This record gives sequence, structure tokens and C-alpha cells, in this order.
Amino acid sequence: MLKIKTFTFNPIQENTYVVSDETGEAVVIDAGCYFPQEKEALKNYLESEDLTLKLVLNTHLHFDHQFGNRFLYVTYGLKPHAHRDDEFLLEKVVAGATIYGFPVTENAMPIGHYLSEGDKISFGKTEFSCIHVPGHCPGHLVFHDARNKVLFAGDVLFRGSIGRTDLERGNHSQLITGITEKLLILPDVTVVYPGHGPSTTIGEEKQHNPYL
Ligand SMILES: [Zn+2]
Ligand SMILES: [Zn+2]
Repeated sequence: MLKIKTFTFNPIQENTYVVSDETGEAVVIDAGCYFPQEKEALKNYLESEDLTLKLVLNTHLHFDHQFGNRFLYVTYGLKPHAHRDDEFLLEKVVAGATIYGFPVTENAMPIGHYLSEGDKISFGKTEFSCIHVPGHCPGHLVFHDARNKVLFAGDVLFRGSIGRTDLERGNHSQLITGITEKLLILPDVTVVYPGHGPSTTIGEEKQHNPYL
């Protein structure tokens, strides 16, 4: 049984997920905690639920999705897993965040482990498979738990919307193709947890998403 805790962090209102199962092992997806109290809230949750953090995962490396990675490294000794094609974004974190009006003083945490299409990630009794869906950014991954019918979609697919493609190395047709061929083929009941906003399902987006 999966337990999914959603935090909405930083001024960009990014969703950070802590996913755990009955073994007490947990992963963090897109650690966007920016303010000290957000970092504390994440740590307090792990402690109060008696969870053992095993992995730090990134759907992609836009700045709002990785502010907390260095904190997790310092606190738990875990380096983030992400796709190599997003590595170039790490050099832009400091400048990007500054443009949006909130300063970052430390450099972004480097990728510790590369993930690519088809890779499996295991913790406790849970397994995610990595689906590469570029277009919002080149190295965007979606994490799929087929057994629990859950998808962590980052900024690929939102409730009633899709990821923007006007950022560096974005590609609209590539994004649409990826969503159509790799995500909409999943069972309709699959619950989608996006990088921003409320959760949805594959069936709901197949029927009502105006961008698809
Ligand atoms: Zn993004
Ligand atoms: Zn985002």
C-alpha cells in the first residue's frame, strides 16, 4: 500500500511528494523546499512517520523542483537521481531563481545517479519504472508504479493542462507525442500526481484535457 504525502513548496508552488510503503522505506520526488521552514517540514514528516529515506528522485531539473536536493544530501547523504539530458539546467538554477525574485546562494546539487527510459527504481516493496517524456525540457522523466496505478508526472501533464514548451530546449510536438504514446496508453484509473496543482487520472485527461 502506497502512502503519498504532498507538500506544496516555494514561491512557484511546486509539489514535492514523499512516497512510502508498508516497509517504512520512502523516496522524495522533486524536493522543491526552499525556505528553512519548508525543509524542516519535510524532515519532520519523515521523522514523525518513522520513514527511512532511500532515494531522492527528480522528474526534471527546473529550479523549482530541486531547491531541496542539497539539504537532502547534507541531511541524509543521498544524491539525486535524474536524467542526464537535464544536467545543463543545473548551471541555470542560481540565475533563474534570481530572475523570479528569490535568491539562491549555493550552487545546485549535481546529479548523483543517471536515470533513463525503462530504468526500474525500487524501494521497500515498491517499483517505479522511468518513462522519458521530453518536450517541457529534454530530460524529463515520469515515474510509473504499475502495480499501484500511480504516475508522478512532473511538469509533463497537469489536470486540464500540459507543460509549457517555451523554455530552453522545449518542444511542443515532442511533448504531445510523448504524452499520447507513452502516458495515455496507461489504464484510465491511473492516478496522476503532477508537479503543480491537483491530482487527476489518465482517463480524465484523455477525455477532458483541451491540449490533447
Ligand atoms: Zn518544469
Ligand atoms: Zn515546475
